[in-house]
Amino acid sequence: MPELTFTTSVVGSFPRPRWLIEAFEKFNRGEIGREDFEELLDDAVKLTVKEEELAGLDVITDGEQRRTSFVAFVGQKIPGFKLIYVTDINPRALEIMKQYKAQLTYWRAVAVGEIRDSIIALDEFRFTRSVTDRRIKVTLPSPYLIMWETWDAKYSRDVYKDPEALAEAYSRVLRQEIIRLRDAGVDFIQLDEPMLGDLTEAKEDEPDRYRKVIEAIHGQKYRGFRNELYLARDLINETIKGIDGVRIGMHMDRWPNPDSPFYGVGFERLAPVVYDIKVKQYVLEYASPGSGDPAVFARDLPSDKELGLGVIDVRNPQVEDPKVVVQRVERVIGVLDPKRIWLNPDCGFAPGMYRKFERRIAFAKVRAMVEAARMLRSKYGEK
Ligand SMILES: [Zn+2]
Repeated sequence: MPELTFTTSVVGSFPRPRWLIEAFEKFNRGEIGREDFEELLDDAVKLTVKEEELAGLDVITDGEQRRTSFVAFVGQKIPGFKLIYVTDINPRALEIMKQYKAQLTYWRAVAVGEIRDSIIALDEFRFTRSVTDRRIKVTLPSPYLIMWETWDAKYSRDVYKDPEALAEAYSRVLRQEIIRLRDAGVDFIQLDEPMLGDLTEAKEDEPDRYRKVIEAIHGQKYRGFRNELYLARDLINETIKGIDGVRIGMHMDRWPNPDSPFYGVGFERLAPVVYDIKVKQYVLEYASPGSGDPAVFARDLPSDKELGLGVIDVRNPQVEDPKVVVQRVERVIGVLDPKRIWLNPDCGFAPGMYRKFERRIAFAKVRAMVEAARMLRSKYGEK
């Protein structure tokens, strides 16, 4: 298939229908059986796929409809993780999150046993493949994210002496799953790395607000800005080393914080180390206020890499005018060849099941993005 210019995609999640959230709750309370629940999950994926097709996206996802959150679902899929409610880990957890203005998912996947090779998303992909002909993106939590999210000093230390040991074990499991997904014909595998994205607001000797919360709740320890960057780079490179035949990307977001001295600074804060991560595409938040100028990051992007540019604000319900989206893309035109520019929203519309975002607004936003891609192709695309 010839490569499109300004290929459109989504980051991952799409808001879940209300009946699906109710079904999750009923299933957890034992009010509906597994078979009925799975039928509802299948229905929700069919609905989302259809919406993404109708919106006109080139590369689609299943909207992460089967996952309670983009990270905690590993607790449903991989033995060794256990879902624990955040206040059972630390009774002061909610106060701590409020204090630092940093929200973590309440149901935490915590490493409590040995992490073993498991299907993480292959089953999801097979179903999605059976209901669409479009190209498919599959999202997976990255090892550096899993390390920060799931190692707890009280629950994990007996099995993994430190967070790094857990991250290495997960990295090996993830690698096997990436190879299986590649062999099954996935078009795009995206590693989700918001913890690396949050590092844009950390100083050498002072962590960002998310790490402060995790230090307080899970008893982890910040290694300093440079060492965190190197660790993330090495873990991701080890995971994907030598795997070809599939497009691999990495997604970072950051919820820019107006109180931070790095408000208005972009992901160039993580350069040049971030360019050494051996992914093909960086899928980045750049539409929300305070996220900086993507041209600064794009300017030094190695020539074999692509930018998945965030052009839709997923935290503001106002639907973008396609002309505004075109202007957001034009910031990197002249810096990157249009074939290297993909369009996507800043982040998933509902990374956690309970994130409130109206489905019809999400749909309208994605449609505006597709319309912008059409305008850009007629203006800048090759004939
Ligand atoms: Zn995100």
